[in-house]
Amino acid sequence: MAKPVVAVVGRPNVGKSTLFNRIAGKRISIVEDEPGVTRDRIYTEVEWLDWKFTLIDTGGIEPESQELIPAQMRRQAELAMETADVIVFMVDGRDGLTSSDREVASMLRKSHKPIVLTLNKVDNPGQGPSEHFYEFYELGLGEPIEISSALALGIGDLLDEVVEHFPDHAKLEEDDEKIKVAIIGKPNVGKSSIINRILGENRVIVSDIAGTTRDAIDTPFTDGEDHYVLIDTAGIRRRSRIKENIEKYSVIRSFTAVERADVCLLVIDAAEGVTEQDKKIAGYSHENGKGMIIVVNKWDVIEKDNHTMNKFIKMIRDELSYLEYAPIMFVSALTGQRMNTILDKVKYVANQNAMRIPTGSLNEIIGEATLLNQPPSDKGKRLKIFYATQATVKPPTFILFINDKELMHFSYQRYIENRIRENYGFEGTPIRFILREKA
Ligand code: GDP
Ligand code: GDP
Repeated sequence: MAKPVVAVVGRPNVGKSTLFNRIAGKRISIVEDEPGVTRDRIYTEVEWLDWKFTLIDTGGIEPESQELIPAQMRRQAELAMETADVIVFMVDGRDGLTSSDREVASMLRKSHKPIVLTLNKVDNPGQGPSEHFYEFYELGLGEPIEISSALALGIGDLLDEVVEHFPDHAKLEEDDEKIKVAIIGKPNVGKSSIINRILGENRVIVSDIAGTTRDAIDTPFTDGEDHYVLIDTAGIRRRSRIKENIEKYSVIRSFTAVERADVCLLVIDAAEGVTEQDKKIAGYSHENGKGMIIVVNKWDVIEKDNHTMNKFIKMIRDELSYLEYAPIMFVSALTGQRMNTILDKVKYVANQNAMRIPTGSLNEIIGEATLLNQPPSDKGKRLKIFYATQATVKPPTFILFINDKELMHFSYQRYIENRIRENYGFEGTPIRFILREKA
């Protein structure tokens, strides 16, 4: 199930980003006084008790503008209502109830989503309810939770209350039998069209299970013997009435989708090439050890000669250099070109990502590699690789027992990686190494 999303909403200056930073544990949303500067990180992954969720600071979503505050807050509230499973509505305990608080509250109530009313800046708790505590009952949102973001007081109670509202199934483990595929990429590159093609061809859609939020829709389906789940991030755009910020939200959704996927299809518009957003999401997939296929869509609109495809491949390899292992496909969701090969590729990459190789063979490959190309040395001391073993899959992770970590150069590790790939492929998946020193 998709991770629940929690959004913090409230008028400016109540302390949203202070709370966000407290929970995130570091100063990741940049509090900027200058108008026009967007705070950098607006979401963070949080673990609390048995739960994991995504926390969004709606105040950071748009650049501080000169616009009227009410318009800004309305948009924040709408965004929160669209994406969040639980809304933390923050008010300022020192100011008391203001008319803007009332306005935001009345908007939020329409969403019928759980709202946790949070009274911030209660810096001296334990002295009974704070001065303005009872005023806030007027909002009809129940008893406020008193916290001090600045002093980190009451935040545990707040999180307890937040996770109370999560749907039970959000806690369940993922189903491992199925290959989970996330279709990611900017709006308009053709994600929905590709999904429709994939689901259109003789495939049985098992059922439609909505994710924990209505924005991420999981579609389980079968193809012959094989079971898949499509994690769709495209839906949000269609449902949203808000044009601005949609890209940012689609990025947040994409990150969550990547985390849950076995294989990511990064869809790129052939006419546009690789964008900054593509790079971010690709980097995230790489760091998370996911299988990756780069899908260049709208291939039909490109004027082609004998070199076009190679030029594209080179351009993509340059832009996404760390994704060397990812196969590149050139397709058209419009004409259907090569669409029938996508699932085979997905299955193949999922298997590569989950592949385990025998220890004997692994050590043979490494032994041969070190004979062909001597390990580096420094001040008369040479790197020795004693032994290797594959610790885990998804992604394939190898432990190398060596004499001295300092002696392992990146380029030599890369060489070992390439030797393993030459023998076993591991196409479409990153490979990891863990170095262990042994006397
Ligand atoms: P945002 O606009 O809602 O994101 O608010 P900020 O997090 O930027 O905080 C606005 C101001 O309130 C800053 O000067 C914070 O230092 C201050 N502030 C935030 N939380 C608290 C709190 O719990 N107690 C007190 N006294 N000040 C706080
Ligand atoms: P999404 O936002 O990534 O889900 O993109 P859509 O699937 O909604 O497609 C955006 C637009 O691109 C639509 O007008 C599609 O008809 C068009 N489109 C999608 N795939 C192709 C393709 O392969 N070739 C061409 N020419 N247009 C496409």
